[in-house]
Amino acid sequence: MRNREYQKNLLKIIEDIKKKNPDFYVGGSCIGEICLVNNCGKDATHKIGEEILDGDPHPMRHNLTNYVCCEHYQMVLGNIAKLQCEEQRHDLYSEQTNLLSGL
Ligand SMILES: [Zn+2]
Ligand SMILES: [Zn+2]
Repeated sequence: MRNREYQKNLLKIIEDIKKKNPDFYVGGSCIGEICLVNNCGKDATHKIGEEILDGDPHPMRHNLTNYVCCEHYQMVLGNIAKLQCEEQRHDLYSEQTNLLSGL
């Protein structure tokens, strides 16, 4: 989880992008979360969740969830996820968050 100062910067970035690109969207609970897949470290743009299937021995439990970056989201969910990222203009977000993280 990013610190409060960093999160404030993320919110500013989001506001700026939305002004020029109304299609831009990153879910609120992603803000400040970090993609941990293979020690990725990028700012999260997606939340993924396990589906609890029929016959699960503990069907009332909370499903497993995690925050991921676009690259790892697309790695799991494929080309349709790539189209979604393009439509929601996540490239604009990644460009600016990379600058913030000093990558
Ligand atoms: Zn990642
Ligand atoms: Zn994305």
